[in-house]
Amino acid sequence: MAVGYLRPTKGVVNCQAIYNNIKAEQQHIKNNAEIYAVVKANGYGHGAVKVAEVAKKAGATGFCVSILDEALELREAGFKEPILILGVVDPRYVYHVIKENLSCAAISLEWLEAVLEEWPKEEVGKLAIHVKIDTGMGRLGLRTEEEMKEVLDFLEKHPQFYLEGLFTHFSKADSADESHLKVQQERFSKAIMIFPKDIPYVHTSNSATALWHDNWKSNLIRLGASMYGLNPSGKELKTPYKIEQAMSVITEIVQVKKVPKGEALSYGATYYTSEDEWIGTLPIGYADGFTRDFQGFEVLVDGVRCPIVGRVCMDQCMVKLPKGYPVGTKVVIFGHDRKGNSISFQEAAEYIETINYEIPCVLSERVPLVYV
Ligand code: PLP
Repeated sequence: MAVGYLRPTKGVVNCQAIYNNIKAEQQHIKNNAEIYAVVKANGYGHGAVKVAEVAKKAGATGFCVSILDEALELREAGFKEPILILGVVDPRYVYHVIKENLSCAAISLEWLEAVLEEWPKEEVGKLAIHVKIDTGMGRLGLRTEEEMKEVLDFLEKHPQFYLEGLFTHFSKADSADESHLKVQQERFSKAIMIFPKDIPYVHTSNSATALWHDNWKSNLIRLGASMYGLNPSGKELKTPYKIEQAMSVITEIVQVKKVPKGEALSYGATYYTSEDEWIGTLPIGYADGFTRDFQGFEVLVDGVRCPIVGRVCMDQCMVKLPKGYPVGTKVVIFGHDRKGNSISFQEAAEYIETINYEIPCVLSERVPLVYV
């Protein structure tokens, strides 16, 4: 894909903010838990390799990704640290997991058996697995005691699997309502009793569990959202320490015109000027991840909040200006401007009725990332 290096639309990532967010979590940890930086989905849109580099400097001892390709990207970039693949690895590719010294989730007896069938012919060593318990997310993992015992039985018979970790994922650790969390905690406590005591890593902690639940029963924290400065609860819970949004999305006005009263703007003519209006065109659209839902959302032009008028197009959108700014005027779509004004991913998420995670994640590859 062509990346828009020669266009003013950029994702600007503040590496110091990522570093500080990790350091703040380290201060917050009460036991000696390690931090694995979650850099799946291209580091939530911030660039996996660069985020991994910053996270390592800040003291993260490993990384979590979702798919095998993401793990291989980190290895190719030269990272030697442990990498845990949280999603399901296709058993046909287990050779690469072992060869690259990766660890992966083991989600069922069926998956383990399928891996055994695909076991590489050549001598490769052991496969490091973290057994996943589905305590109430309903996504991946073992649910019943019987399933857990079957898996343990299988592992005893097949020493080529190395039981490196036992983990679960909480679906509602980011809420004041802890009832479902309690159900999941109770189920995981029971699972822990079934498994051997000497498993190196036992972990439950995403950002929310680390922030508000003392990384419950975890000697490894899978730190994602809060590292990027995103409050996993949205606005429901205050973070116990200050985190800073690491990314801004910026652009510049590429055309300015005075449109007479009563004229239609953009596809579908959904907006008519109510007076003679200064309209600026911005080179960002839904193909960049700035979705059509942002019609009406306000962006910062020279420190002034200005609404997106008319439909967001594939590559551009229009903004109503208070005056005729020159072409090249800086615009902050999300993030901070130099005058201290800001539009957070949280605010954007509320506007389009989603969560703050999704806004940077869906920025397309066409938007280049710049690190400061
Ligand atoms: N662990 C698992 C299994 C996940 O799926 C995720 C993210 O979705 C994380 C950890 C990181 O969560 P967060 O970004 O909320 O810290």
